[in-house]
Amino acid sequence: MTIHAVCPSCAAVNRVERERAAQATCGKCKTALLPGKPVVLTEATFDRFIGKSELPVLVDFWAPWCGPCKMMAPQFDQAAAELAGEVILAKVDTQAEQSLGARSPFIRCRP
Ligand SMILES: [Zn+2]
Repeated sequence: MTIHAVCPSCAAVNRVERERAAQATCGKCKTALLPGKPVVLTEATFDRFIGKSELPVLVDFWAPWCGPCKMMAPQFDQAAAELAGEVILAKVDTQAEQSLGARSPFIRCRP
């Protein structure tokens, strides 16, 4: 089975074997597609990444001034490594990407 994976670097959509997704690299820029660490999403990449990725994407909307957000970060990084190839963990800095932060009513940590 093949799946669509969006490159975290250049946002190209790659078709990869599901079983080998954790080792796959982008056909365009050679970046690891599912690197086992959180993908940083921005206003420029968020919609495409979420819309085209066929693996589930769990997004941490965090703020640099938030203590609990920063406390959770090491566990989030660890989960990204453990779930590599199954679930994509991504992060949005709501301080830097304010329009993304403003789009969800569920986000607590936003300016
Ligand atoms: Zn790429």
